[in-house]
Amino acid sequence: MSFIVAIDGPTSSGKSTISNLISKEMGFVYIQTGAMYRCVALELLKHGIDLEDTEQIGKVLEEIDIHFIRGKDGQNVIMNGEDVTEQIRTKEVTDYCSDVASISEVRHKLLQEQRKMASHSDVVIEGRDTGTTVFPNADVKFFLTASSVVRARRKQQELAALGENLRFIDVLKSVYKWDEDSVKRKEGALKRAKDSIFIDSSEMEVEELKEKMLGIVKEKYKERDEWCI
Ligand code: C5P
Repeated sequence: MSFIVAIDGPTSSGKSTISNLISKEMGFVYIQTGAMYRCVALELLKHGIDLEDTEQIGKVLEEIDIHFIRGKDGQNVIMNGEDVTEQIRTKEVTDYCSDVASISEVRHKLLQEQRKMASHSDVVIEGRDTGTTVFPNADVKFFLTASSVVRARRKQQELAALGENLRFIDVLKSVYKWDEDSVKRKEGALKRAKDSIFIDSSEMEVEELKEKMLGIVKEKYKERDEWCI
């Protein structure tokens, strides 16, 4: 049986950075669920498909093939044979993504894909519903967060690296809005699993966070191995 590490949390809480590091160290597959929703959003935008057009959306979902390959500095996202790692990070895709991720057919399809990806491999899966809906029986669950100010600062830096220079106050407002929308939405709302380990990384350096989370993962992995003998 696969070993599942589920990491959920709000935007810019450091989930991707830490999931990448833990999966690399453990030799696990890394499933970035947000990137999968971004791929569907990109594909619908590319084909100009209306969000009410369930038939066309169904066709896109039937044909879509998403997988990840480990790159030099992180993970590359491949959709239908094309590397879309950068295309899925544009503001247009980001703005569209929340509406796309609210469509229940989209959630259903990606949930199936996420479970399939983990059926033969140990995984680190990261998102907002991975420890509640996708893998309620995950071996280790984390809920990772940080203060709004820290998350806005991180987001501002991320965007600057992509060439988008925004004022801190505007980024902070978008983080507040994201937080409000993400708990209110009907489909795929951000929820903390009761049995998750809560970590506030506001005052932590990446290395410290990695050591803490990796220690817990290794411990649980060892325990599971002992049970399986
Ligand atoms: O994590 P990331 O910002 O890449 O996610 C993009 C968007 O995909 C989120 O803002 C959210 O609307 C959606 N999402 C989701 N469920 C997940 C992961 C992401 O609805 N498990």
